[in-house]
Amino acid sequence: TQARGPDPDIPIVTERLQGIKHKILVLSGKGGVGKSTFTAQLGFALATDEDTDVGIVDIDICGPSMPRIMGCKDEEIHGAADGWTPVYVQDNLAVMSIGFMLPSEEEPVIWRGPKKNGLIKQFLKDVEWGSLDYLLFDTPPGTSDEHLSVVQFLRESGITGAVVVTTPQEVALQDVRKELDFCKKARVPVLGVVENMSGFVCPGCHGESKIFYPTTGGAKAMCEELGIPLLGSIPLDPRIGKACDFGSSFTDTCPDSPATKAYLDIISKI
Ligand code: ADP
Repeated sequence: TQARGPDPDIPIVTERLQGIKHKILVLSGKGGVGKSTFTAQLGFALATDEDTDVGIVDIDICGPSMPRIMGCKDEEIHGAADGWTPVYVQDNLAVMSIGFMLPSEEEPVIWRGPKKNGLIKQFLKDVEWGSLDYLLFDTPPGTSDEHLSVVQFLRESGITGAVVVTTPQEVALQDVRKELDFCKKARVPVLGVVENMSGFVCPGCHGESKIFYPTTGGAKAMCEELGIPLLGSIPLDPRIGKACDFGSSFTDTCPDSPATKAYLDIISKI
């Protein structure tokens, strides 16, 4: 295949995104570790402050889950004078996802890299994001076409950094190393690692069980070894899954829970 130069539309993307202060990629080595859940709940938690404007762009093109977990799955994208308007979940929280364009949630998206690249470009070039404090990118697991596309399109406007979500198990941690390697090669700063489902707090007795092996400190030890911050550990709490199924903010519905404390602590570090 012929080597191609950078996309000629990168300067247009750069101009479109100039009002966005922080662009954060949320990555995970494996699927099912809670990356989309984390992205959504981070978005809600950041937007609790009404002076903070937040956008979420779902670039998990083949598995878009943002419309459901942000509680806006029946919304449609509307055309604006100058492109598309994202879906507003609340005044200061906007979402964009291919999920809004599919005839049904069951409809599979079977696209090759160039087509995904084209849609990601549209999400960045044609959406009226306006000025935002944070634009969070929910990415597919692993490192694939979508990651390469977003890194390419943000090469001039800059990526604030990546947050890597993992569960405590060794197999998941191994894949975190691959994500970190990707960040190094793509020159994306790593903000840190979030350990999700790091323990289970019994709603009855409030005792904490470490339900995964290794039972303690796998992510912490890895972060220490690699010299990157462990941003926080979010316990497994069924109410998080419930909040996502109902498209609501976990930190609002369960303000006193250990998981909320973890989310707020993570926010203070990014
Ligand atoms: P990924 O984006 O990594 O594929 P999801 O965000 O879709 O993973 O999460 C997978 C499942 O785990 C979902 O059903 C979600 O509600 C649940 N989940 C994620 N994090 C937690 C948590 N901390 N406590 C309880 N359930 C969680």
